[in-house]
Amino acid sequence: MSEANAPETRRFDTEVHQLLKLMINALYSNREIFLRELISNASDASDKLRFEALTNESLKGLDQDLAIDVRFDAEAGTLTVSDRGIGMNREEVIDNLGTIARSGTKQFLESLSGDTQKDAALIGQFGVGFYSAFIVASDVAVETRRADEPADSAVRWTSTGEGQYQLEPIEREAQGTTITLTLRDEHKDLLADWQLKRIIRHYSNHIAFPIRLAEAGKEGEADSETVNDSKALWARAKSDLSDADYQDFYTSLTGDEEKPLSWAHHHVEGSQRYSLLLYLPSQAPFDMLINRDEREGVKLYIQRVFIMDAAEQVVPRYLRFMRGVIDSADLPLNISREILQDNPLVRKIRATVVKRSLDLIEKLAEAGGDDWEKFRKAFGSVLKEGVIEDFEQRERIASLLRFASSKSDDETVGLDAYIDNMAEGQDTIWYLTADSLKVAKHSPHLEAFRKRGIEVLLLTDRIDEWLVAHLHEYKGKTLKSAASGKLDLGDEQPEPDESARTLAGRIKKALGEQVGNVIAGSRLTDSPGCIVSDDDAMSLQMQKMLRQAGQEVPESKPDLEINADHPLLGAMAREEDEGRFGELAQLLYDQALLAEGGELADPAGYVRRVNALLVNALGGTSDKDDDRAASA
Ligand code: ADP
Repeated sequence: MSEANAPETRRFDTEVHQLLKLMINALYSNREIFLRELISNASDASDKLRFEALTNESLKGLDQDLAIDVRFDAEAGTLTVSDRGIGMNREEVIDNLGTIARSGTKQFLESLSGDTQKDAALIGQFGVGFYSAFIVASDVAVETRRADEPADSAVRWTSTGEGQYQLEPIEREAQGTTITLTLRDEHKDLLADWQLKRIIRHYSNHIAFPIRLAEAGKEGEADSETVNDSKALWARAKSDLSDADYQDFYTSLTGDEEKPLSWAHHHVEGSQRYSLLLYLPSQAPFDMLINRDEREGVKLYIQRVFIMDAAEQVVPRYLRFMRGVIDSADLPLNISREILQDNPLVRKIRATVVKRSLDLIEKLAEAGGDDWEKFRKAFGSVLKEGVIEDFEQRERIASLLRFASSKSDDETVGLDAYIDNMAEGQDTIWYLTADSLKVAKHSPHLEAFRKRGIEVLLLTDRIDEWLVAHLHEYKGKTLKSAASGKLDLGDEQPEPDESARTLAGRIKKALGEQVGNVIAGSRLTDSPGCIVSDDDAMSLQMQKMLRQAGQEVPESKPDLEINADHPLLGAMAREEDEGRFGELAQLLYDQALLAEGGELADPAGYVRRVNALLVNALGGTSDKDDDRAASA
C-alpha cells in the first residue's frame, strides 16, 4: 500500500466541531430531520449528475435511472442511504465533510442565542445538512465515488463525530454515495418500516427521484418499495391538485413547516412554454436579510432537470422571499448562469415571475387580516427595495407599502389611503423620516401639520431614506419631507415681523458657522426651534446613516427655524448680555438637534449649560462661567 492509500486521521474544522455539539443538543427532540437532510443531499447529487451529464462526455453513457435507496437493519442497528448521483472524490470529501462549505453557516452559528428551544427552531429551518446524521448516530460511514472517476479512486470516510474523522481509499463499482449510520440505542426505534415510511413521506414526499425503502436481507426488487410521490408536482394539472398537495410540496421544497400564505400555479403555453409554481412564505428564513445576494428561493428546471437555484436572473432581489419552481420547456439544457443573464426567454419568465408575485401580494393586501399582517412584518422592508430597484414596477410596489402616520401608530397607512384622506386643496404627500416612531411622533416638525389637520407619514425603517430618495411622486402627487425648508401648506403664512428677523439675525451671529441660516418662521406652535433642511440637501437622518456605514459625508450645515412667539425666544429678545444670549442660542440649537435624533458636537457642553440653568432655577449658585447662562 502506498502512502496515499493508507488510512488517515484528520481533524474537523473548529466550526464543524461547534456545529456538531450545538446541533446534537438542540435538535434532539427534532431528530427525524436527519433523514430529510440525507435524502435531500442524495437528491442534489442526483440532480448534479443529470446536469453534468448534459455537457460532460464521460458521464453521458451512465445509467441515469436515478433512485435513492433507504435500507435498514434492525439487528445490526444500521440505516443506509444510497444514491447513484455525482459522488465525491477525495478532495471533495475533505472539503465538504470536514469543513463547513456553506458560507452563511458561520454567521448562522454566531447568531444562535444559546436558548435551546429557540435555536432548535432556527437550526431546523436552516437546513443543517450532512452533520445532522450525528443527532441519531454514534458512527457514520460514507463511501463515495465520483461518477466520472475510476472505481479504485473511491473513498471511505468514517467518524464518531468527536473532533476527528478517518479517510481511506477503497474500490467501489457503483457511482454515487452510500451513507451508513450506526444508530445509538435510544434511536433504534427508528429502524422500522412504518417509522421510516412515515418520516420519508412527511419530509421528502416530493423529492423528484423515487425513494425506495427496504429491510436488510430483503432487498430484491419486489421487496423494495417506492414510498414517495416523485412525479414533479408542478408539471401536473391544477385540477388534479389539492391545497394539501401544494402545502406538502412547499414543505418538502423549503423545509419550512409553516404553511405558505398563498401560491400561484400556472402552465404557460404558446410561443414559450413553461410551468410556474410560486409560493409566498409566512415567515422569513433567518438569512434573508444577511445574505442579500445568496438566495435559494426559486429553482429553475429545464424539462424536469434541475438546473440551478435561479437567483437574480429569474427573481429580482426585492422578491427574494418568494419560493417555488420554474420549469421551462424551451430553454437550452446546457444553459449557464452567464447565458441566463441575457436570454430573452429568461427575461420574459422574469417579468412573469414579478407580475405573478405582485398579483399574489396584492390579493393578500386586499383580503387584509392576519396573513397580510404577517406578510408586512416579515417582508415589508424587503419589498421596499423594489421601489428603488425596479423602475417599471415602482408605482405598483409603492401601492403595497404601509406606514405609520401622525394619525395612526400602526403601520397601516398606504399611499392610496393617504391620498383619499388628504385635506381640501392638499396636493403633497408629506412624510417625516426618523430613527424611531417615538422620535417622529414628538418631532416639532409635526406642529404645523397638526394645526392644519394634515396627515404626515412617519418613516422609521432604515431603508425609508433610500425609499423617498427614489419615490418623488405617486399617482401625480409629490412626496415631500415635513422637515424641508419651505413648507407650502396651502394657506397664507404670515411674514415674520421686524423684531423676529432681528432676533434670527442675532442667533445666527451667535451660532456662527454651525448653522446655515436662521429663519424666523411660522411652522412651530409649541417648540422654540427646529432643524429644517434645504429641499436638495441630504437629510440629517441620511447623513447619520451614511456615517454609520463608514462613509465620508460632506459637512453640511442645517438651517434653524425659530418660533419667535415662544416664551424662550421672547426672553432671549430681551437679553442684552451677548455672552448669555450666546449660551441660550447654543441651547436652543442643541435641543433642536436632539429632538431630531441628531448628534451634538459637544454633548458635555450641552449638559453643562442645562445644569447651570437647573442650579439657577433651584436657587443655587454656580461658578462664574455657568452663572452667565443661568441668569438669563
Ligand atoms: P449542504 O447540502 O447544505 O451544502 P451538507 O452538509 O449537507 O450541506 O453537505 C455538504 C456538501 O457535501 C454538499 O454541498 C455536497 O457537495 C456534499 N455532499 C453531501 N452529501 C452528498 C452526496 N450524497 N453526494 C454527493 N455529495 C454530497
